[in-house]
Amino acid sequence: MTRVERAAKPAVIEQNQVAWTQALLDAATKEDKKRAEKKYRHLEIKRALVSMFHGKCAYCESKILHVDYGHIEHFRPKSKPEFRSLAFEWRNLLLSCAVCNGPEHKGDRFPEADEGGPLINPCEDFPEEHFEFAFDFQARLASVVGTTARGKTTATLLGLNRQDLRAYRSRRVMQLCVLSRCAENDPDARALLEEACHDDAEYAAFARTLVVGHICDQGLQENDR
Ligand SMILES: [Zn+2]
Repeated sequence: MTRVERAAKPAVIEQNQVAWTQALLDAATKEDKKRAEKKYRHLEIKRALVSMFHGKCAYCESKILHVDYGHIEHFRPKSKPEFRSLAFEWRNLLLSCAVCNGPEHKGDRFPEADEGGPLINPCEDFPEEHFEFAFDFQARLASVVGTTARGKTTATLLGLNRQDLRAYRSRRVMQLCVLSRCAENDPDARALLEEACHDDAEYAAFARTLVVGHICDQGLQENDR
C-alpha cells in the first residue's frame, strides 16, 4: 500500500450527492434501495478513481484493469446503517481489486478502534508509518508487515500476504533486485528501476523501500556469501 493524494471531487458527485443520498435514505423497498444505491457506479466516478489510483488496487497495489474492471470500494461500508449516508461521499470511495474487497477479506468489515482498527486508508494515512515492506532474500518473499496495531489488523484482514499475491509480488521484487545489480552501468536498467518507484507502478511501496534504500544490493551480496 502506498500513499495516494485524493483528486478533486468529480462534478457528478458535487451536483448529485445530496439528492442521491436522500433517495437512498428514503428507499422503502429492497428494489428502491438497490436502484438508489447504484448511482455511485457512475462512469465519471469510476474514471476519476482509476486515474487517481493509476489503475491499481488501493490496498494491495496490484494493477487491476488488464484482468478485471475494478471495484469502487466504500472504505466505510455502505451496507452498515451508520455509514449509509457515506454511499456517495467522495472521501469514502477507493478503487480496489475484487479479492481485497471480496467477502474473504474486507467485504463489509470495518473494525473499530477497540477491534484493532480502523483500517489504514491510503488517502488518509501514510502507509509507511504502519507497514514495513520487507523482502526476505533467502526465502525470496516480499511481505507486508504491520508495525502498528492498525497496520497489523489491515494486513491480516485484507490478506496483504495471501499466497497468490505474495508469490507474484515476490517475483516482481526479486526481478527488481537483480535489475539493481546492473543499474550502475546500464542506463536502461536504471530507468526501469526508477519507473518501478513511480506512483503508477505496481508494488511501488516495495520498490521505493528496497531499491531506493539500496537494500537489494546488500541483500544480494549477503546471499552470495
Ligand atoms: Zn487488492
